[in-house]
Amino acid sequence: MTINEKLFDFIKSSPTPFHAVATVSKTLDNAGYTRLSEADVWGLRAGGKYYVTRNGSSLIAFRVPEGDFDGFMLTASHSDSPCFKIKENPTMPGAGTVRLSTERYGGMLCSTWMDRPLSVAGRVVVSTDTGVEVKLVDLGSPCAVIPNVAIHMNRKANDGMSYDASVDMIPLYAADGNDDFKARVAEAAGVSADDIVSTELMVYCADGGVEWNDFISAPRLDDLQCAFASLEAFTASGTGDSCPVYCLFDNEEVGSLSKQGADSTFLYDTLCRVNSALGGDEPEYCRKISNSFLVSCDNAHSIHPNHPEFADKNHTVYMNRGIVIKYNANQKYTSNAVSTGIFKVICREADAPVQFYANRADMAGGSTLGNISNSHVSLTSVDIGLPQLAMHSAYETAGKNDTETLIRALTVFFGKSVKITGDGSYTIK
Ligand code: ZN
Repeated sequence: MTINEKLFDFIKSSPTPFHAVATVSKTLDNAGYTRLSEADVWGLRAGGKYYVTRNGSSLIAFRVPEGDFDGFMLTASHSDSPCFKIKENPTMPGAGTVRLSTERYGGMLCSTWMDRPLSVAGRVVVSTDTGVEVKLVDLGSPCAVIPNVAIHMNRKANDGMSYDASVDMIPLYAADGNDDFKARVAEAAGVSADDIVSTELMVYCADGGVEWNDFISAPRLDDLQCAFASLEAFTASGTGDSCPVYCLFDNEEVGSLSKQGADSTFLYDTLCRVNSALGGDEPEYCRKISNSFLVSCDNAHSIHPNHPEFADKNHTVYMNRGIVIKYNANQKYTSNAVSTGIFKVICREADAPVQFYANRADMAGGSTLGNISNSHVSLTSVDIGLPQLAMHSAYETAGKNDTETLIRALTVFFGKSVKITGDGSYTIK
């Protein structure tokens, strides 16, 4: 199996953040990691491998070095993608059909969600003898479509459209009188419909990934391509003098401000507990944090061949030409001279090419994970990503060689330590 085929399998098994965390958990279980619960007391041992989840949609994994260690080597990517979330009362009859009652999650390119096979996945909560229990569900096969209006009825369809989520973007589910939605969800979850007390379901793009010529196309490349590549690197890497940490956060597409997002206490809580479970006090935590390094991994915008005018002429990045380091003067991206220099040295050792991205000076870019998580755990940090086209489309395109390049760089990264040795000097070993 090629690395991109493995990526497509990862994406297929991760239609929602809950499934992404389950997919990563399974990989970690198979690699001998011990699952911890935030609700238990943690007994960690030197040389141990662990992971912890929050809300079933964010995950942090780490390996404890054998001896005393100086800091953490972290990556962060996100588990969520723009989609349509199904509301509490899931179906709506009308016009001889049953449609799904949805609202937008994140900022998708609406037109790309039309006229393509969609499915439904998420989680259901069932009542049990002692309380409630969460079950994941994925209907799997295509079961919805958001149909366009025919050109004959909308002659302006090719002249620039605006989309009203409550009118234009409602998924068609079934013919009138065939409203089996709740029963179908219950059956797919393996539970009785009467036992379901609540649901959190999302409509997702059910197309599979393909490699073609020099590119790959798949749903949710932002940011599952980085989530996958950093996981491959994390599990393949050795442990050096620092503690390698893999982070996967939910809710990046809606600002990260949730109990499990990058703007939560999840990372801070986890690193504090790792430190104290190994006998470290608060000053020791601060010392370790100062000797740590975060790579915030979220995909980047390749130059668009039909619209090169959107790229900064002097900071244009290309698919298949390596890892993108992102800069923003106003610190929407955390990269600075020191963090970029350190990351470049590591990439050079890994023989991984890098390129540099900045927004056009007259265009505001997006925000990402690094600067948000830095308000809770303030780390030396670089923002990177893999170059792609059509970010937030239902079906995105990237370079076929770049996944492997990022894995190579991060495999070296996780085995390193970055230590402050003086005012302005750092050792990387
Ligand atoms: Zn992203």
